[in-house]
Amino acid sequence: MKRIQSIFFLLLLLFIGCKNSTSKQLGKAEKIGAVKPMVSFTFDDGNTSDLANFQFEEWNNMILSHLEKENLKAIFFVTGRNKLDEKGQLLLKSWNNKGHKIANHSFTHPNFNSEKNTSSLFESELKRTDSIISNLSNGIKLFRFPYLKEGQNQAKVDSIRNILAINNYVNGYVTIDASDWFVDQRLRQRIKEVGFEKAEIEKFKAFYMKHIMERADYYENLSYEINQRHINHTLLLHHNLASALFLGDLIEEFKAKGWEVINAEEAYKDQIFENIPSSDFAGESLIYSIAKQSGNYDQTLRYPAEDSRYEKAKMNALGL
Ligand SMILES: [Zn+2]
Repeated sequence: MKRIQSIFFLLLLLFIGCKNSTSKQLGKAEKIGAVKPMVSFTFDDGNTSDLANFQFEEWNNMILSHLEKENLKAIFFVTGRNKLDEKGQLLLKSWNNKGHKIANHSFTHPNFNSEKNTSSLFESELKRTDSIISNLSNGIKLFRFPYLKEGQNQAKVDSIRNILAINNYVNGYVTIDASDWFVDQRLRQRIKEVGFEKAEIEKFKAFYMKHIMERADYYENLSYEINQRHINHTLLLHHNLASALFLGDLIEEFKAKGWEVINAEEAYKDQIFENIPSSDFAGESLIYSIAKQSGNYDQTLRYPAEDSRYEKAKMNALGL
C-alpha cells in the first residue's frame, strides 16, 4: 500500500512538473483553459491639462487610485511632445512610481495612414519618445500606433514594421477598441455648460459603461468565434476625465459580468499577440484585422471599426 502511495505521489509530482513547464511559455488565457474572458487596461496619450473643474494632478491621481484599489497594473502609452516639461515629467513619474508600465505612442501623434507621414517620420517619432521613456524603470518597448493606423499600403507597413523590429519594439496591439474619447469630449462640454451636476454625470457614466461593455462583448465574441478560446484582451482607454470619474465602476462592471481583470503586461503574454496580420490587413484592433484577414467577415465588419459617428446619434437621443 505504501509503495502504491509513493508511486502515486511520484506521478503527481511529475504531473505538476509538466504543468509548470508549459505554463511558463503560455499566457494566462491558455494556461487556465479559457474559463472566462480576461481584460486588461491600457491608457493612451497622457494629458497634462486641467479638465473641467479638476486640476491635472487631481484627476490623474483619481485614475491611479482606481487602479491601486483593484491592485491592477496598466500600460500607459504616451506621446512624447508634452512630457519634457515639469508637468509631463511629473505625469510620467506618477505612473512609473506606482508600478505601471510606460510605453511609446509616438512624439506628435501623427496618422501613419496619411501619405505625408512617411516611414522615416515614423522612425524619428519612435526614437524621440523612446529617449524620454527608456530611462524610466518601468519603460517598455511596446509601440501603440496613433489612431491604430500602421500605414496606408503594404510597402509602408512593411517598412514601419522593419523599423520597429530594428529598434527592438513590438506593436502594443489593442484587442478591444471603443470611443471613450468621444464620451469624454461630450462630458467635458456638458460640465462647461451646466457645471458639475451629479445627475448629469451619472447619465454620462451609464452611457460610458454600456458603450465600453458593448464593445468588449463584441470583440470578445468575435475573438472567441475565431480562436475558440478566451484570449487576454487589451482594452484601449484614454488618459482623460471619463477614466478619472468612471474607471472604478467600469472595473467593477467587468467583474460583475464575469470577466477577470488582469495586469496589462501579463495580457501581452498571450500568443494572440504573435498572430500578426499580414501587412495588407494592418490597422484597427488586432481582432478586427485577424477577422478581416480570415475573409469570413466581409459582410459584417464595419469600417471604420470604431468612431464617434456610431455613438453620436445615441448620445443625442439621450440628451448627452
Ligand atoms: Zn492616441
